[in-house]
Amino acid sequence: MSLRQKPYLLKYRFFPFSEYLKEHFPYKVHKIPLHAGFTCPNRDGRVGVGGCTYCINESFSPNVNGSYIPIKEQIEKGKAFHKKRYGAEKFIAYFQSFTNTYADVKTLRSCYEEALADKDIVGISIGTRPDCVTDDILSFINSYTKKYHVWVEYGLQSIHNDTLKHINRGHDYKAFLDAIHRTKKTCVNICVHVILGLPGETREDMLQTAEAVAGLGIQGIKLHHLYVAKNTALAEEYFRGKVQTLDIKTYVHLAADFLERIPADITVQRLVGDTHGNFLISPIWKASKAEITAGITSELERRGSYQGSQCNVSAPIMKDHSSLYSEKSKLQTVEI
Ligand code: SF4
Repeated sequence: MSLRQKPYLLKYRFFPFSEYLKEHFPYKVHKIPLHAGFTCPNRDGRVGVGGCTYCINESFSPNVNGSYIPIKEQIEKGKAFHKKRYGAEKFIAYFQSFTNTYADVKTLRSCYEEALADKDIVGISIGTRPDCVTDDILSFINSYTKKYHVWVEYGLQSIHNDTLKHINRGHDYKAFLDAIHRTKKTCVNICVHVILGLPGETREDMLQTAEAVAGLGIQGIKLHHLYVAKNTALAEEYFRGKVQTLDIKTYVHLAADFLERIPADITVQRLVGDTHGNFLISPIWKASKAEITAGITSELERRGSYQGSQCNVSAPIMKDHSSLYSEKSKLQTVEI
């Protein structure tokens, strides 16, 4: 793919999700993060206890704090916020917190449909673990692709089993590949989450993850930097001097390296981790998310490179349901 074919590559040097949404919808679409009240099998003992060593959902999911708020109410609040702040017109319901396929189909249906009942919801994005999607659940999620823009977001973090064990993910790379393989048989878009700077990982290890992800045929990626949050097992390791976090310059270089190695058609939904509240211990970077993202763009510009410039894998097939959305755009007020 040349820079001329994709003008946003010239501007950002990567494929931002905002540009992806512009390509797919005739109106401004934003994601609304939701907490549906699920837990996680890596916390309640079914797979493991304690969860991933870095995980405290309160630090990255704004809706987890305090008492449970009904999904309908979360949607209304999210819509009002994104409309006022960003001029958003339509929304993707993003089931973000914990493991959002950790229930039977009947329970999942009632949760998802509480969000989909809102006429301004045009899509659904479901965050989960790769070991928590049965074929029945995948088939059920796939049924929404007839009417909605549908994503499943899988936490991978690293392809290296030693790392996955160290951070107590409770699944290995094989389980992730199995979930990807089964999801690719559906019309559901796949987004993969990766963390850069995990304990014990070298630059080479992280780039091996990039090269493996490049060949998966997925549609989206979220990159995060490892951060240490209060009340986590990782914080204990950090205070014992067993874990270091990245400085901002190193992270910017690693993120640029990563982007160079994945196809330019994989949309980048996130380029840096995010903490809410007073949970962050390290790293303390004196830069906003927007500044870090701009720093990654500048680094790619400085190199004269861009997303995919060092990638030999052909681009993934985008699961484009644009005819659905153009039809829907004419029927915006019709309940579907
Ligand atoms: S799978 Fe997700 S919710 Fe569960 S412990 Fe790990 S990061 Fe937390």
